[in-house]
Amino acid sequence: MGATLSDIYVRGKFIITMNKKREIIKDGCVAIENGIIKEVGKCFKLDKDYKGKADYEIDASKHIVMPGLVDTHVHLVQGMLKACANYRRLIPWLKDRVWPLQGNMTEDDALAASTLTMLEMIKTGTTTFLETGMVGRYGPDRIVERAHKSGLRAAIARHVMDMTGYATEENALHEGLVESGDKSMGDTIRLYNKYNGWDGRIFIWFGPRTPGAVSLELFREISAKAKELHTGITMHLAEVKDDITYLTEEFGMKPIEFAHYVGLTGPNVVLVHTIWITDGEIKLLAKTSTNISHNPSCNSKLGSGIARVPDMLKAGVNVALGCDGGPSNDNYDLIEEMKIAALLQGASRLDPEALRAEEVIEMATIRGAKALGLDSVIGSIEPGKKADIITINYWEPKLMPMNDPISHIVYAAHGDDVSDVIIDGKLIMKERRVLTLNESEVLKEVEKHARELFERTGICTQPEIKWPLI
Ligand SMILES: [Zn+2]
Repeated sequence: MGATLSDIYVRGKFIITMNKKREIIKDGCVAIENGIIKEVGKCFKLDKDYKGKADYEIDASKHIVMPGLVDTHVHLVQGMLKACANYRRLIPWLKDRVWPLQGNMTEDDALAASTLTMLEMIKTGTTTFLETGMVGRYGPDRIVERAHKSGLRAAIARHVMDMTGYATEENALHEGLVESGDKSMGDTIRLYNKYNGWDGRIFIWFGPRTPGAVSLELFREISAKAKELHTGITMHLAEVKDDITYLTEEFGMKPIEFAHYVGLTGPNVVLVHTIWITDGEIKLLAKTSTNISHNPSCNSKLGSGIARVPDMLKAGVNVALGCDGGPSNDNYDLIEEMKIAALLQGASRLDPEALRAEEVIEMATIRGAKALGLDSVIGSIEPGKKADIITINYWEPKLMPMNDPISHIVYAAHGDDVSDVIIDGKLIMKERRVLTLNESEVLKEVEKHARELFERTGICTQPEIKWPLI
């Protein structure tokens, strides 16, 4: 019955589908119509219906085509703070550097930084991200609207808090970031009502700050409200040993036991880092279907430790991947993060197969989608799913010869190898040119705002290098 018109037709060398069978289609094509993946298969089969009939055809014949990456832990505003907090453990990293910088940001600073991070994510193949902690001073409305404009798919968690500590009182939060329970909770619900579900791309989550900054009552209120609104919750937990000390002394509980006690376990929860946890806690995570975001660069850079990823996966916990932030990584390149995740486990366990490339790609795609409650919508290239797809150009010295597309993505590729990005069926980056944001404007803005912020705070005004800068 007449010609089938597809909006975008992608012709790839390898399609990593991430479907249930995990099929990789050589000389495969993808037909996209109205934002949805209509057909996936061998090009010679699909060509008769789609070749020459699409509004736009992507020649990815020297590319790997795969689902867009899902970054499950992002601090948008920290994009401006790269190299501003090197060589510090978490608490001095926060208290002396990151909190005063974030606590002095203007709304314009925060928007410039967030836009930079969005641009970097698009350019390195991330199509969906989970922001962990918006606060009022950043002007969350404009940031949410910018995320929408960028074309990305985003779950944006707003921080909720009613106390000022990080674990103990002497680790008090910077005054510029302190908010009351009423304000932080009320504003999260306001943002939810205003933006949640916008074009099926924007979601508003709860981001309880940390144990020590949230009362038991507020934790329980967050848990109940998130269930009522069918939305998610994300929080850092067990990133450092101090978390164990605090929760044991204060409540006689281990971190995951505490999370469970206050209602922060379940399929709508993403706990971040969870390095310092026991076998019993891993069982509890599995039993409650709680999701974990693993951030190996951050954990290495801050000297925090190595999360027990293979143990969690083996126990049936859904572990996804995250880049965290500018001063802890220092980039938002999830392809690079995959390699670090794999290498860390191999080295620390003296086992080259401790975390295989296949498992790491799952963490960056379908497991990330599941963590965000979106695995029926994105995370694989299958008919009926939304078209969030990236192409990776392998016709480059570092990826040739093309011996193994799965191994090459994890061990050899880099974010810069991403060529085209499609989100929700729309072309967002074409041959490395981002179509939704003006790259040179974004870079100019962030440079200006970074200098202003550093001058205002007296932090990060000079590089922290031991060598003379002349
Ligand atoms: Zn973080």
